[in-house]
Amino acid sequence: MINEQSYAYGASKSSIREIAAYGAARKAEIGAENVFDFSIGNPSVPAPDAVRESITHALTLPAIALHGYTPASGLPAARKAVADSLNRRFASGNDTYSADDLYLTCGAAASISIVLNAVCNAGDEVIVIAPYFPEYAVFIQNAGATCVEVLADAATFQIDVAAVEAAITERTAAVMIDSPNNPVGAVYAPENIEALAEVLRAKTVEFGHPIYLISDEPYREIAYDVQVPWVPDFYDRTLVCYSYSKSLSLPGERIGWVLVPPTNPEHDRLVPAVAGAGRKMGFVCAPALFQRVLIDCVDEPTNIEAYARNRKALTEGLSRIGYEYVEPQGAFYLWMKALEPDANAFFERAKSFELLPVPSDSFGCTGWVRIGYCVSYDTIVDSMPAWQALWDSYRQ
Ligand code: PLP
Repeated sequence: MINEQSYAYGASKSSIREIAAYGAARKAEIGAENVFDFSIGNPSVPAPDAVRESITHALTLPAIALHGYTPASGLPAARKAVADSLNRRFASGNDTYSADDLYLTCGAAASISIVLNAVCNAGDEVIVIAPYFPEYAVFIQNAGATCVEVLADAATFQIDVAAVEAAITERTAAVMIDSPNNPVGAVYAPENIEALAEVLRAKTVEFGHPIYLISDEPYREIAYDVQVPWVPDFYDRTLVCYSYSKSLSLPGERIGWVLVPPTNPEHDRLVPAVAGAGRKMGFVCAPALFQRVLIDCVDEPTNIEAYARNRKALTEGLSRIGYEYVEPQGAFYLWMKALEPDANAFFERAKSFELLPVPSDSFGCTGWVRIGYCVSYDTIVDSMPAWQALWDSYRQ
């Protein structure tokens, strides 16, 4: 018997990937320069040179050493490199994090899936802040839990803490956040995270079981003139999911980690639960070559200037035309109001001008589109006449 849930996910596909596939086919048909594909979060910024140098060096190692299995949680030296980096950036005083608190994964998608499988039991609920990265719902359901959507504050797109509080039940296992946020580009303020932490502490006591805060942070390094708070400083029961897909432009290489901070009261049971979730899900180990790359490149800076330049060109161009959007504080997405209530209809109209944003319905709300500006600068500049023509078509 085919698993019906798996069949449904495979048959329906991710709308982001469907649009990206359409974009690739359309480019082959009419020329890449004539299609403005803003759908998928694939960085156009190249990986740092140090990554290539690290790979070249790794290739001089004996093949057995290079390509062999690593421990399931990752090479001790790679985990230590990550822990040392976290300590340099976030620990106050003595080193807080050690290699034993880290589990290397195949990117943030795996980190999230593993963490959810570590903390959820059948029938549990996990709260997400809408609009949210659509795969969260898939990962939550795969962990046997129900995805509970809570709308972000409509004016600020910060977490609506009162609404989260109202949505927490005795079945709530975790709340998931991502800041800088995909798709709206919000960075949650320290006061906002503190208010959420207070509610989670109170609800943990009220219901007599831990409620975890899962902080998904693939965009941590991409923030414009704003500090991204370190969530474990606010809430002991935080689990951090990270990847180098965006910060080092390595989305196809599948490398990231899960951090179980030692301040977490359940740390000593959570660490094996994370490892067990990985084992259960068949994650044998993260790619060995890229674990070695981490040892050399964990502190390589992200080319934030390229995204800042894109953000400026896109926001200035679109506001000159008249479009309304949320000013992004981080990540590389612009959340823009559709010119009609039905975001899918707006998308279809945009498509006829060779513009490919992602309609907001798959992120859990309607009336908006997400424009990924991790594309080349030229794509943004060259797309402006099409955005103007799309605008004009609504004014006629
Ligand atoms: N979380 C968010 C918010 C994302 O935007 C993405 C990818 O775009 C992921 C997780 C998955 O990241 P990865 O490619 O590292 O699995």
